[in-house]
Amino acid sequence: MSATISNIAVLTSGGDAPGMNAAIRSVARSASFYNLKCFGILRGYQGLIEGKIKVLGPRNVNNIINKGGTILKSARSDEFRTKEGRAKAYENLQKHNIDALVVIGGDGSFTGGLIFQQEFGIPVIGIPGTIDNDIFGTSHTIGYDTALNTVVDAVDKIRDTAISHNRLFFVEVMGRDAGHIALNTGIGAGAEEVLIPEENMGLDRLLESLKRSKKSGKLSSIVMVAEGDKIGKNVFELAEYIEDNLPSYEVRVSVLGHMQRGGAPTCFDRVLASRMGLRAVEELQNGVSGHMIGIADGKMILTPLEKAIKGESKIDSELVRVSEIMRL
Ligand code: ATP
Repeated sequence: MSATISNIAVLTSGGDAPGMNAAIRSVARSASFYNLKCFGILRGYQGLIEGKIKVLGPRNVNNIINKGGTILKSARSDEFRTKEGRAKAYENLQKHNIDALVVIGGDGSFTGGLIFQQEFGIPVIGIPGTIDNDIFGTSHTIGYDTALNTVVDAVDKIRDTAISHNRLFFVEVMGRDAGHIALNTGIGAGAEEVLIPEENMGLDRLLESLKRSKKSGKLSSIVMVAEGDKIGKNVFELAEYIEDNLPSYEVRVSVLGHMQRGGAPTCFDRVLASRMGLRAVEELQNGVSGHMIGIADGKMILTPLEKAIKGESKIDSELVRVSEIMRL
């Protein structure tokens, strides 16, 4: 390994995700293992601009592997979108002799990191941390597995009340651009229908499907709706439309919202984050920059940040098929 890197910094940016703490811990401890000094930057790029930087030794990350959120806090920074803002950020890195940056976040954070690297030559490595799993170059982002389990747990509870009252529940889950959460939890929680941004099933088909299921003897149902569903109505309008056209159903809506982001990370997310953090530190020492660490077929892989930002994280068509057959 080349010895050109001696001080690295880590930040979390964009929406928080369970498992970010495990990734921070991994970066700090991996750095220590390789005798590098590690710094934590508070509140993402905004904290970097404001000089909110502190040493992150292996003992500063005790007892966080099991905690949701991020001890470094996260923020969105408009100032970092400006050249002046990024120049201030670079000055602060120089003050601490920081010569590489690990960015834990989503594609927006990677875009900022890539621009920063191009402008100032500071090596940047990305770790995908977002519950939406909408990043190209990794089958799983940190936080996604935890969010799936949180949603399935919530829908199991909703099902209890749906059955007791013969109700049809529309459950809205996160996913403005990607339906991974809705599709997987739809299968996992036994939903009747799954509405995702990648496919527009249309109101008529939805109505027909719900009519059919009623006829087949189902008294209650769950419909999973991704936030970004393209059917053209929000979840409340959708519920109203179905109730107007299917009066035999009593319809309710449950928007799961931010609870999907919280909670203790699953073992899968903790292990994934630990692996990614270590690999990030190792790759920086190998002289790699401008790449994201991902996982594919159980192995750690590298994807250029540019590709990770622009590429599409596609829905698995096999899962769509499974979901369709399981609703019978
Ligand atoms: P999530 O998937 O949770 O939304 P994200 O990383 O995509 O996470 P964003 O809000 O898109 O979240 O981006 C986080 C931060 O990255 C922004 O607040 C901004 O500071 C920085 N950033 C995003 N795009 C750019 C850009 N084009 N130039 C500079 N900085 C950017």
